[in-house]
Amino acid sequence: MKKEYAVIGLGRFGGSICKELSREGMEVLAIDVDEDKVNEYKDIASHAVIADSTDENVLKELGIRNIDHVIVAIGDNIQASILSTLMLKELGIKKITVKAQNDYHEKVLNKIGADQVVHPERDMGKRIAHNIISNNVLDYLELSDDHSVVEVKAGEKMIGKTLVDLDIRARYGCNVVGIKRDREINVSPMATETILENDVLIIIGEDKDISRFEKNLV
Ligand code: ATP
Ligand code: ATP
Ligand code: CA
Repeated sequence: MKKEYAVIGLGRFGGSICKELSREGMEVLAIDVDEDKVNEYKDIASHAVIADSTDENVLKELGIRNIDHVIVAIGDNIQASILSTLMLKELGIKKITVKAQNDYHEKVLNKIGADQVVHPERDMGKRIAHNIISNNVLDYLELSDDHSVVEVKAGEKMIGKTLVDLDIRARYGCNVVGIKRDREINVSPMATETILENDVLIIIGEDKDISRFEKNLV
C-alpha cells in the first residue's frame, strides 16, 4: 500500500513540501483555510480542500485518521499549529512533522508528541552563515547541539596532500567520511588518498573541531 500524506498550511514551506511529494508521485491531501491557496494546489495535490485544522470534527470528516504522515506547516499562527498537532496526535496519526516558528514553539511541539519538529528558517540561516564565513563551506548539517557534518571544497592548503599528510583526525578530531570528485563519491577514503583541486570533502565532527579545521585548512 502506498503511503498517504497530508500537508496542512500551504504557505511557501508547506506548499514546497506538497509540490515535491506530488512530483515524486505520492498521494497528498493539501489543506488550507484560505480558498485561494487551495485553488492553487488543486491541480498539484491528489486532493486539495478548504478546512480549518483546529476543528476536530473537520479533521475527522476529512478521514485524516487514515493518513500515514501529516505535515503541519502553519506559519505565524502558533496557537493553530499547536492545537492542530495536539488533535492529530489524539486522533492517533502515526507520524506528525511540524514546522516551528521559534524555540519555545519547538519545545511545546516536542512536549505534546510531535514526531519531528523542523525549523527551516533557523537551519537555513545557519547553513548560509557558514557559507558566508567561507565560500568553500558548501553545506552544513547539524547532527546534534554540538556535532555537525560539513561539505567543504578543498582549500589551497589541502591540494596535493594526503589525509595522512594533513593528519586531520589526530590534529582536528574530525573524520573525512567521503570525498566527492566529479560525479563520484568515495565513501571510504584511504588515508593515502591525495586531495585534488575541486575535490569536496565531507567531514563529521564536533562543532569546535570542525571550526578549527575550517579556520586552518579551508
Ligand atoms: P512560509 O513561511 O512557509 O511561507 P507563512 O509564514 O506564509 O509560511 P502562514 O502564511 O502564516 O505561513 O501560514 C501558512 C498557511 O497556513 C497559510 O496559507 C494559512 O492560510 C494556513 N493556515 C493557517 N491557519 C490554518 C488552519 N487553522 N488550518 C489550515 N490552514 C491554516
Ligand atoms: P590513528 O590511529 O592515529 O588514527 P591510523 O592508524 O588510523 O591512525 P592511518 O589510517 O594511516 O593511521 O591515518 C593516519 C592519519 O591520517 C590519522 O591519524 C588521521 O589523522 C589521518 N586520517 C586518515 N584517514 C582519515 C580520515 N578518513 N579522516 C581524517 N583523517 C584521516
Ligand atoms: Ca514565514
